[in-house]
Amino acid sequence: QTQQTDDYYLFKIVLIGDSAVGKSNLLARFARDEFHPNSKSTIGVEFQTQKMTINGKEVKAQIWDTAGQERFRAVTSAYYRGAVGALLVYDISRRLTFDSVGRWLSELHTHSDMNVVTILVGNKSDLKEAREVTTAEGRALAEAQELFFIETSALDSSNVNAAFQKVVKEIYNILS
Ligand code: GDP
Ligand code: MG
Repeated sequence: QTQQTDDYYLFKIVLIGDSAVGKSNLLARFARDEFHPNSKSTIGVEFQTQKMTINGKEVKAQIWDTAGQERFRAVTSAYYRGAVGALLVYDISRRLTFDSVGRWLSELHTHSDMNVVTILVGNKSDLKEAREVTTAEGRALAEAQELFFIETSALDSSNVNAAFQKVVKEIYNILS
């Protein structure tokens, strides 16, 4: 939802992508600066609200995480409803999760507005030896699908804030 209440905006942003790509850990790192090495789906909260400042204006990002239901391809339309932003996450060390990106995009577009600001996120950039998807491939797919692109590591924190900031800033720019 986009609600303007007095002096701040509330943006609903959804995390999507295959199971175990690191969605919950990206949110844990961003919202609480935590990392869970052996996380199970149980750490998933429904959503987390995070205050951010964009161009001197306070904005609230309401970031939704799945509770593991993506494992059963059972992410419901309620999850997507009202979303104005999305982080579509894959794992750079598992090509299968990159191959799923198209399916996630069509699901996103089925359930939400075509204009939802979407960033393609190649997570686990710390796993250099195990990399199966190059940065160039990630960037090329993002360009072809007109998505923003970034590689992150929830483990070593790199680009995690930048990924969320990018989405929120672009939403803000569209709405202001
Ligand atoms: P989700 O199913 O997409 O929510 O994925 P989780 O956040 O539960 O993470 C799945 C597994 O990947 C867990 O064992 C995490 O510790 C691990 N993980 C998540 N992010 C990273 C990362 O950036 N680097 C590494 N090396 N492992 C990660
Ligand atoms: Mg999770």
